Amino acid sequence: MSNLSLAYIFQQQQLLVDQDFQLPRVESLASDLQVSSGDQVIARDLLPNEPIPEGLQLVPIRQLLQYWTTSQFEQASRAIQLLEWRRNHRFCSHCGTPTQPHATEHAMVCPACHYRQYPRVQPCVITVITRGEDEILLAKNARNKTSQMYGLIAGFVEVGETLEEAVRRETEEEVGLKLKNIQYLASQPWPFPSNLMIAFKAEYAGGDLKLQEEEISDAAFFKFDQLPEIPFKGSIAHAMIMHVTQGQPVADDTKAWL
Ligand SMILES: [Zn+2]
Repeated sequence: MSNLSLAYIFQQQQLLVDQDFQLPRVESLASDLQVSSGDQVIARDLLPNEPIPEGLQLVPIRQLLQYWTTSQFEQASRAIQLLEWRRNHRFCSHCGTPTQPHATEHAMVCPACHYRQYPRVQPCVITVITRGEDEILLAKNARNKTSQMYGLIAGFVEVGETLEEAVRRETEEEVGLKLKNIQYLASQPWPFPSNLMIAFKAEYAGGDLKLQEEEISDAAFFKFDQLPEIPFKGSIAHAMIMHVTQGQPVADDTKAWL
């Protein structure tokens, strides 16, 4: 699919799509929304007074993952992150003057002191932990009370930390376990809101499961052939779990792997 004239119209974490979960074309929106037909790609929020055009619907972005190709998701992901960044950098963080978008770069520029603010990504480590030949550690997120889904240990890298240190610290904090043989697997940009997920695999080295209750409501080692509900296809967690439990290879290109 060409990326020409696509419209990314957001409302919070939802996107306007048609009945087949595809993005509308800019020109098809012109009668309902404020768009100029010369726009090639637009990305903006649905304005409070704008109706949802007929035939379109707002769908949570995470849900679109299952209908979209990886490259469609990546384009949307870039649009989401840039929009979110613009929204959060309307003023200069040095002097408070309203900023302006740079003409050619992704930067918000201060007209008074010329300070430039660029988009940032938050590195976040995610780890698939195995024990022996046939067990995987899966954990249930405490914040998602209605879900029965078990995922992987993940968390943000702190200032001054290596990725491997972040893997060790998050695992100790959340489930109280020690790790060995920490190895990089792959990465995935994840626009909720602006993360770079960096995937590792590691082996259990010792310790008893001790849960950090505000983060994790349950965690256990599961046999590879007796997995509970796991994260949806398209997420890096799903690919990581498939990799260790079913030997799905990690491609050179992470995108092909997902
Ligand atoms: Zn300034």
